[in-house]
Amino acid sequence: MRTLTTISELKQWREEQRAEGNTVGFVPTMGYLHEGHAELIRQAADSCGSVIVSVFVNPTQFGPGEDFESYPRDLGSDRRVAEAAGAAALFCPSVDEMYPADSGIRITPGPLACRLCGASRPGHFDGVLQVVLKLTNLVQPDTIFFGMKDAQQLAIIESFFRDYLIPTAICRVPTVRESDGLAKSSRNVNLTPAERDEAPAIQRALQHGLSLYRQGKSREVIEAEIAGLLTELTSGTVDYVSLLSYPDLSEPRAEEPELILACAVQFSKARLIDNLIFQKEG
Ligand code: AMP
Repeated sequence: MRTLTTISELKQWREEQRAEGNTVGFVPTMGYLHEGHAELIRQAADSCGSVIVSVFVNPTQFGPGEDFESYPRDLGSDRRVAEAAGAAALFCPSVDEMYPADSGIRITPGPLACRLCGASRPGHFDGVLQVVLKLTNLVQPDTIFFGMKDAQQLAIIESFFRDYLIPTAICRVPTVRESDGLAKSSRNVNLTPAERDEAPAIQRALQHGLSLYRQGKSREVIEAEIAGLLTELTSGTVDYVSLLSYPDLSEPRAEEPELILACAVQFSKARLIDNLIFQKEG
């Protein structure tokens, strides 16, 4: 596996793939790779000629007081995980390489970013779109792979690519979980042992919400029950619990077949998110 740190190295690598006739799959990440990332890389390797993974903790998607500094980093381990999962190259640029001079031009994600994480992390999805567009323009992938754990991010990027005719296919990859149901996340390492024990309650509470939905309970009752369970079963603070249509993230409407039940819980040093995406019927 090749490790690339500069834009010019990346361009060179991309040219080589073109010359060899390889389709390119791209997995953008913030590193501290785990089995969830590995699954994205494996799926990319199954369907593309060569796979490139980026590892870049993007400062523009962190707000003041968020965990940019304490976000876990381990490039040595990332190299091993990416290579074992089938990556041909790893792109790990510095902040200066990605953000030299700045004209101040920004991409605004619009109404899809007003709910869920966007409501409590103002500017977060602006930063996500900024880095995803820059990386996509550099890598020029045939297909880009995103996890459904970050369902709002996925919905916003799908709309962005569609609206702006970005010629890269998007592949959705289901959430990979620990055996106790906790969604794998780089941030799990920042949980205290007691919080780690409590955290599987997030998925259990969402599953309970889904069973209430199947029993015909109202949106308000479902959201309140889940929030109540999270408060009772964890020491974290519930940021939001929301039942919405997916992927348009509007109030559930009759004509939308898919729903999302999503929540975020703030623990002492880690904010965890999780969701269930399900068909309205059955
Ligand atoms: P991150 O490094 O957390 O920014 O995530 C990079 C990519 O991996 C995003 O598309 C995430 O949605 C995806 N991802 C993170 N955790 C998981 C997981 N547990 N299962 C599947 N995909 C994941």
